[in-house]
Order: sequence, then C-alpha cells, then structure tokens
Amino acid sequence: MSKVNITAPAETWAQFEQQVIKPGNCMHCGLCVGVLPEKLAFAETPQGLLPQLTKQLDDADAEALNTAWACCPGRGVPYHHVNEFLGRTAHPLLGAFEETYVGHSGNKTVRERGASGGILSSVLIHLLETKRVTAAIVLQQGAHTPEQAAPVFARTADEVLAAAQSVYAVTPTLTVLEQIDPAAGPYAMVVLPEQAAALRMLQAAGDPRALAIKYVFGPYAGTNMYHGSVRGFLRGQGVGNDVAISKLQWRAGEWPGYLQVDTADGRTFKAEKFYYNYLIPFFISRNCQIIPDFTNELTDLSVGDAWAPTYEKQRGGHAVVVPRTAEVQSILQEMVEQEKLVLNAVSVEKALSMHGHMLDFKKRGAFIRLGWQKAAGKPVPQYDYAPADVGLMRKVVEGVLWLIFTTGRQPWARWIITRLPLSIVGPTFNGLRLSWKKLSKPTKRKGLAEVAFTQTFMDERWQEIAQTESTQEQARA
Ligand SMILES: Cc1cc2nc3c(=O)[nH]c(=O)nc-3n(C[C@H](O)[C@H](O)[C@H](O)COP(=O)(O)OP(=O)(O)OC[C@H]3O[C@@H](n4cnc5c(N)ncnc54)[C@H](O)[C@@H]3O)c2cc1C
Repeated sequence: MSKVNITAPAETWAQFEQQVIKPGNCMHCGLCVGVLPEKLAFAETPQGLLPQLTKQLDDADAEALNTAWACCPGRGVPYHHVNEFLGRTAHPLLGAFEETYVGHSGNKTVRERGASGGILSSVLIHLLETKRVTAAIVLQQGAHTPEQAAPVFARTADEVLAAAQSVYAVTPTLTVLEQIDPAAGPYAMVVLPEQAAALRMLQAAGDPRALAIKYVFGPYAGTNMYHGSVRGFLRGQGVGNDVAISKLQWRAGEWPGYLQVDTADGRTFKAEKFYYNYLIPFFISRNCQIIPDFTNELTDLSVGDAWAPTYEKQRGGHAVVVPRTAEVQSILQEMVEQEKLVLNAVSVEKALSMHGHMLDFKKRGAFIRLGWQKAAGKPVPQYDYAPADVGLMRKVVEGVLWLIFTTGRQPWARWIITRLPLSIVGPTFNGLRLSWKKLSKPTKRKGLAEVAFTQTFMDERWQEIAQTESTQEQARA
C-alpha cells in the first residue's frame, strides 16, 4: 500500500467535506466507507446517501483515510493513467475494447431473468462453473429489506440470478470492500462507472481486497435515481408510505421490462420502462450528471441495452456487449461455442449509434455542467480530458435540461408529480421524451462522432494513488 504523504485524518476529512461532499461531487461509490467502516457510514440526505463520521478520527485512521482520499472519484479520475495501468489504449467514446457485439444469453431462463438479455448473469455463472472465481459480488435488490439493494457474494447460479436486473437507485456498492477476504478469492464484481474508477484506483494503490477482484464487469450507466422514486411512483397510485413494499423489481418481465412493486397488502403495481422514466427528472442523482463515462470504460466487460428498432421489435432481450480485455474476449468465445451466449459482431459505429443521446449527455453534457459549477466558484471533479469545442446550441440544450432537473428536484415539483396517476404522466412523459430527443438530436449528434478531446495529464493525482513504480508493478502482478 502507498505509505508516503500521510496527512492528519482530521485534515483529510475536512478536504472530503469541502471538496467532495458539500459541493455535491460525491459519487456515492462507497469506497471511503468500505476502507474505514469503523469511523464512516452512509446517511440519507436530500443529496442522497452521503458518507458521515460516526466516531472521532484518530492517528490510526490516517492511512485508510488517505487511501480513500487518493482514490475518491468525487475528486475526478485520471483516466489516461488508469488505462495505462491496465495496459490499455482508450477509444474516446467507448474506452478500450476488443470487439463490439449484440447478443443475449443462450439460456432462456437467464435471458428472461436479466435486464437486457442476461449477458452479465450468464458470464458470472460461467466464471463460477469454470472455477475462475469463488464468488461474484453483485447488487441484489431486496437482499436484506425489499426496498433497498445491497451487495452480496453469489456463489451459485441461483444466487447470481437472484441479483439479476438493473437497480436504478443510488447504492454505494463499494462498502462491500470491508467484507472481502483476499485469500478467499478471486472474485468477479459488477459495478457502475464511478465505482469501476474508484476500484481501479484502489487496485493501483495496491489494496489486496481490490486486487482480489479479478474480473470487473458493469452495465452501461446513463442515469440513476435517489431513493424516494419508488415511493413517489406508489403515491401516484394512491399508496401511502405506511404500506410496506414486499418486492421490488426494476426490470421485470420481457425486455425492455417494467417496474413491478408488490405491496405487503397483496397488491401489485406495474409501469412500463419508458413510462416510469418520468421519475428521472425528479429524482436524478447528481453523480450521474458529472461523470463523463457512459459505457463503463474501466471494466473488463460492459453491457448495455441494444436500443435499435430491429431488436426492439424482436423483443426477448438484446444487449450491446463490449469485452475490453483479450481474456474476457476469449471467455465470451468459449461461451458462444458452448451455446451459453449468442453474440453477433457489430461495428463500433453501430454500437455507438444505439446510445447517441446518452453518450452526448456524458461526453459533452458532463463537462458543460461542471463548467457551470466551476463558474459558480465550487470545486469540481477533475478529469484528464474535455471536449475541445462545445457549440453554443449544445449549451442551450443543456440549459433546458438544467431547468428541467432543477425544477424537478424541488419538493413541490416532486409533491405534484407523485400525486398524478401513471396513466397520465407515463404517456405524457414518454411523448415529451421522444419529442425532446427528436428536437435535440441534430444539436446533440452534430459533431459527437468527430468531437475532439483535449488531453491533460494528472500526474500529481496519479502519484498520490500509485506512489511508486514498485507499487504499480506489484498491483499489475
Ligand atoms: C443505474 C443504471 C443505469 C443504466 N443506464 C443505461 C442506459 O442509459 N442505457 C443502456 O443501454 N443501459 C443502461 N443500463 C444497463 C442495463 O440496464 C443493463 O443493466 C445491462 O444492459 C446489462 O443487462 P444484462 O441483462 O446483461 O444484466 P443482468 O444479467 O440482468 O445482470 C445485471 C447485473 O448488474 C448488477 N447491477 C444491477 N444494478 C446495479 C447497480 N446499480 N450497481 C451495480 N451493479 C448493479 C446486478 O447485480 C447483476 O449482477 C443501466 C444500468 C444501471 C444499473
């Protein structure tokens, strides 16, 4: 582990508060609590789950807290150095990749259980079956209480499937670090882009728990929501907070699936995926607006919905699949040969064209939002690249989104929207969403494919993380 430049814990914590937590830069990844669970815990706040001190810090906490500070994605991410550490060269929109596919699980049950074709669950099950890992660390909705998701160690196919589907609620999954026993690995883990960045930085710092995670997988991640969205949805159906939720599924049924909430009084409430998206402007988390990574670039395998009319018409579950290492690429081939996966190679352009709006939301939008935050005098996360030129019209589009999100998060706006029936807000929002996509498409897509990025090098930050060549050599080994 890195051992130089240890700062007094109180000073480090003050930096967390001033530069990350108060300005709204916390990515809710969970790393800080995961490495110092004796002193830190997450607490629910109007800005989502935030780390807070539970006990006074003392000198013995200095190393753990310094590591958390060095690897905190709320300060930004030195992507170039992380990619270099992983031995990769990144495509500016997609990150490093070996191939791009569209496909789904070869197993009907897994395909149906998954969010968009069950690729991630299939590969995790295969890693367990071939004894490449001892457990898959996955996020399971309802693991402890029906309303909350929590990371679990899945050791069987059934346990992996119990955690299938996407969880669209901010969850600091890296708190699980405290439960990882490196000697009992190796592990595979599923993480969001900010968590992948935190985990990679922790690996570069030589942390044995992070290094025990041999396979880092993850979904593409556009938007995520603060807690309260599901309760808001239920209120719109006339269900009060006093009625307990007995089961919550974000992507139930046939792809693209629907939100399904079962309540303890025996009722079931459903909303098609594109209808319950109306909750996003009201509950969207800040972290997903200020990270430029949509496709989970720092994972070994990332998977997103294959949004294209051909696949949407077929239904059944289709995903865009991006293996990022030669090893994962050969595992996928092995699975295709054993009919565990169905994969068809598609061009990078085709893969990217399925998510033009979300790529733009991250690759240009995040930088515009951060530019405004900086102009307001607040600290911002630092990244080592930025789009060279963002036109005025693109900023105007962003201004409209800013107005929508700023209004949406006001308590009165949430109050109103959560009292309106889904039969009205679902179709209305979907219509508005499609019109907005059409209207903003020329501006958003214009230049995205050719957008040039300026590169800076965050050498100092990287030295904080991986302070010596030998630490890095050790981590790579
Ligand atoms: C917050 C979020 C936003 C997303 N946004 C988009 C988008 O804009 N566009 C798009 O194309 N795809 C998006 N996805 C990805 C998509 O929903 C599917 O997760 C992905 O296509 C994988 O499908 P699958 O069937 O292979 O996964 P499955 O086989 O269903 O497996 C999913 C795995 O991911 C884990 N997981 C689920 N939620 C989380 C989470 N929040 N954090 C960590 N692990 C988790 C599960 O435990 C499970 O192991 C998003 C996913 C999430 C979680």
